[in-house]
Amino acid sequence: MIFSIEEFAINDGPGIRTTVFLKGCPLRCEWCHNPEGLSPMPQLLQKKDGAEMCGKEIEAEELANTLLRNKKIFNLNKGGVTFTGGEPLMQADFLCEVLGLIHPHIHCAIETSGYSSEITFKKVLKNMDFVLFDCKHTDDALHRKYTGVSNQPILNNLQLLKESAIEFVLRIPLIPGVNDTEENILAVSDLIFDAPNLQRVELLRYNKVAGAKYGMVGLEYKPSFDTEAEPHPITKPLIDAGIKVLVL
Ligand code: SF4
Repeated sequence: MIFSIEEFAINDGPGIRTTVFLKGCPLRCEWCHNPEGLSPMPQLLQKKDGAEMCGKEIEAEELANTLLRNKKIFNLNKGGVTFTGGEPLMQADFLCEVLGLIHPHIHCAIETSGYSSEITFKKVLKNMDFVLFDCKHTDDALHRKYTGVSNQPILNNLQLLKESAIEFVLRIPLIPGVNDTEENILAVSDLIFDAPNLQRVELLRYNKVAGAKYGMVGLEYKPSFDTEAEPHPITKPLIDAGIKVLVL
């Protein structure tokens, strides 16, 4: 079940990429800016100019063939395909089937919250070249409060990722008053400073337009943090630990 395929993406991994959005996510981050990706079911988006269906079923083979058509272009510019969502690990069997058909012919990346069982995560990593791994909060109670789930499986999978040879970028969505604290960034740094396969950390500043699409799927955007506040891009603990940081 996918809800979009976007070509010529430049912020979803190395080179120019095609990004595939898989529908469904087990998290409920208060700041999520893709509310149409939350439900694993197809749904109607109510737009100003009429309703539009969001989500369609596609066979693994059909998706793989679509992606393989651009194989030469991907390889020429060192790009590839990135799977995102929603949470792509939620459809791990489908994802593994697609990966089995396109990898290693195409460079494959995943953007993930890291929320899955160890078995699932290991299975997906088998055919993966690059990972964009989100770290929303290192404190379990706060992670539960703001995303609805424990960070324990995420931290377990981060450890597995560190032990793999797969290059990764750790992404922190910087949410004002939630995770943009010295304490949290220091804890992140302690988690990853020794990972030889870590490329960099990206701090993604909270985007105020995050709530724009909620009405379209019949949801209300009502985060408990101050959406008007500016997040603090705290980088010192990471830089001090020798980690490359990018503030976006
Ligand atoms: S993990 Fe991503 S898609 Fe899922 S709720 Fe959080 S921000 Fe939204």
